[in-house]
Amino acid sequence: MSFALYRKYRPQTFEHLIGQTAVRTTLLEALKKGKLSHAYLFSGPRGTGKTTSARLIAKAIQCENRKENGEPCEECNICVANSANENMDLIEIDAASNRGIDDIRDLREKIRFAPSLAKSKVYIIDEVHMLSKEAFNALLKSLEEPPVNVYFILATTEIHKIPETIISRCQRYDFKRIGEKQIVERLKYIAEAENIDFEIEALEILAKSADGGMRDAISLMQQFSNGVLSAEIVRERLGLSKDQNCESLYGALGSGDTQKGLKIIQDLHLEGFDLQEFTSSFLGLLRSKMHDAVFEQKQAVLPNILNWISLFDEAWMKLKKTSIATLPLEIALIRATQKFEIAPASASVIVRKDASPLRQEGLMHIDGVKKQIPQILKEVENISIRTSFQTGTLINIDSKILKFQFSSKFHYDKVNSPEGIVTIESAIKKILGPEFNILFELDPAVKEMDWEVIEEKTI
Ligand SMILES: [Zn+2]
Repeated sequence: MSFALYRKYRPQTFEHLIGQTAVRTTLLEALKKGKLSHAYLFSGPRGTGKTTSARLIAKAIQCENRKENGEPCEECNICVANSANENMDLIEIDAASNRGIDDIRDLREKIRFAPSLAKSKVYIIDEVHMLSKEAFNALLKSLEEPPVNVYFILATTEIHKIPETIISRCQRYDFKRIGEKQIVERLKYIAEAENIDFEIEALEILAKSADGGMRDAISLMQQFSNGVLSAEIVRERLGLSKDQNCESLYGALGSGDTQKGLKIIQDLHLEGFDLQEFTSSFLGLLRSKMHDAVFEQKQAVLPNILNWISLFDEAWMKLKKTSIATLPLEIALIRATQKFEIAPASASVIVRKDASPLRQEGLMHIDGVKKQIPQILKEVENISIRTSFQTGTLINIDSKILKFQFSSKFHYDKVNSPEGIVTIESAIKKILGPEFNILFELDPAVKEMDWEVIEEKTI
């Protein structure tokens, strides 16, 4: 993504900081009274103004002539140097980079050096949750006894990864997602200043897809604004990119490429996609592949597709409540692409508590599964599917795929319909475990018979 416009329009005073009223009021109040903390911790979703606020507070702390309302003067040497990113006493460390770790390592010695231009030194540590345990310890020591003229501002999108010892030494501020209306207003302001031709609806779609992140909204606007920025173009480009990502993820599942899949999920997150919306599109793709497989009789791929549907459907539900945005998708992906060994019976038996163990020494017995069929049937609510399923015989179990044979074409067609497959497989997963899949086949003798009948008619 390109962030040129975002940088150009980054607020230079608290007055222009958008959407974080509570944070802004509290910080300005503290600056007004000169009640400064030596360490701040800014947490919240990406693109919501944490680094911008960190720079603003650094600027206000270092300003030689701070205004009565707490804002930096914007005129002194330090303010000018800060606005131009040329202040040597404002040190920004990106903890996500290798260099960041080195920077933290020699932080304790460097903070003893006097500031060069300003009266104080400010360290901004971005993505602070990425620090190693060792680096956190080094940082903690600096936080415990900071020199009088040194300030720290830590920023993170993942507060749960920050040790309690660090959190307790900081004044903490939680940043909220920015409202769509406020994002639209800001986009409109920038578009007008940059002479971008736009439809207001286009800005609204951008604001919605940015999910509360100003940086993503502005970057997307910049990407899509070669020519008129219309609602149609924005929809098309956002949608196109989503479809491509769905196809790529499907490709990663097919080839069992976990790393590629993880990269796609991470990129989607970084590009500001709504992951739940993406997952729902992805399920749509899986569903159409499932239909294709049924109608084109590609039964060998069906067990995999059904397994993926249930994994990603589960991820979709968990995405609402997760504390780590990408985690449910990552788990679904890893389960879908990695082959796990079946644990010996003593370690874990993946069956319901009331069911008898199906595996002994890692082997699964067809008789054990057969005993569970009445339980499985109880889980199939649709009566006609259940009736048809009852006529089948479990003939073998191979790499967690249960193969049922049917001697009636009518019943076979019923269970082998998309609805039949989904219903029966979910019943089986419920009783036997999520790693089981199914395959239905028509008794070859019946197949031959049908064929003969057709032959007769044709002749
Ligand atoms: Zn100033």
